[in-house]
Amino acid sequence: MQPKFECHTHVVSRRHALKMTLLGGRAIIGGLAVTAPARAGGGAEALLLSCMDYRLVDDIVRYMDGRQLTNNYDHVVLAGAALGATSDKFPGWNATFWEHLDVAIKLHHIKKVIVLDHRDCGAYRIVLDKNLTGDEEKAAHAEQMNTLATAITKKYPDLAVELLLMGLDGAVEPIAMG
Ligand SMILES: [Zn+2]
Repeated sequence: MQPKFECHTHVVSRRHALKMTLLGGRAIIGGLAVTAPARAGGGAEALLLSCMDYRLVDDIVRYMDGRQLTNNYDHVVLAGAALGATSDKFPGWNATFWEHLDVAIKLHHIKKVIVLDHRDCGAYRIVLDKNLTGDEEKAAHAEQMNTLATAITKKYPDLAVELLLMGLDGAVEPIAMG
């Protein structure tokens, strides 16, 4: 009879293998994880920074898929997106962004940072203490996003930066740099 913990480990491992097979196109054979050669190595195209807002999770994936970037971007999620990365009210979040950008560059050789803010953002409302709409809302996002873009370009001159604002309907508009 096997010791109890080994039995438990075995069950978890089998469940894990099934889950991997179902979700990731991977299988565990003889204890070795085997990954299907769906993508060649060499890295990802971009790092996406978005807000955490639950309402837009599917729209974000759909938007990135529509740009043919499926499984070709790293994704950092901070409440407020650009605001989370820049506001001095969230020093821990600021550091998290920069550390993850550094990892994305070193590990996946990304060429671009895509900053995706969204309208009706609770983080903006709380930090700015205002309920902005329309052009004023867009201007508030443009200010934070440009602050972040300038900082990224200063630290990593070879990286391209793209600034985008998503509406609650999932429509995306570009935000001008500078
Ligand atoms: Zn938000």
